[in-house]
Amino acid sequence: MSTIFDRILDGELPCHRVFENDHVLAFMDIAPISAGHTLVIPKERKARLHELSDDAAAELGRALPRIARAVCKVSGSEDYNVLQNNGAPAHQAVFHVHFHIIPRPTANVGLGIDWNPIEAPDPAEYAEKLRAAIAEDAA
Ligand code: 5GP
Repeated sequence: MSTIFDRILDGELPCHRVFENDHVLAFMDIAPISAGHTLVIPKERKARLHELSDDAAAELGRALPRIARAVCKVSGSEDYNVLQNNGAPAHQAVFHVHFHIIPRPTANVGLGIDWNPIEAPDPAEYAEKLRAAIAEDAA
């Protein structure tokens, strides 16, 4: 399904472009929660992070620190959050993979986070299941 970011990629909608190469586009968020709030998206059209190809993921990984350095330099803050939401319950509104880079110049500007630790399942058992899933994915 087409998203607003597809329309930006296709040039149908404008954006304030920050960075672009063959694989990645970065642009200013239309409703920033701090000055410098930037979005970084792959040109590969996938809704969720785990759906990306290795190549698209690698290109995103290469671009993110470079864009973060620019955001730090221009915002004057070396403190920031990188946010990446997957699925509506996880606060995803646009179903095209994107990373938010959100400056946190002071404790009350930028991304607020509620961090509520739970009674976790056995981590050794969980890690074993995750190792098996990763091995299966790599096979
Ligand atoms: P999500 O909640 O999906 O992680 O975040 C989507 C982000 O996209 C929001 O921060 C929202 O402000 C931004 N956004 C939505 N529509 C547009 C648009 O048309 N242009 C730009 N530049 N940003 C948008």
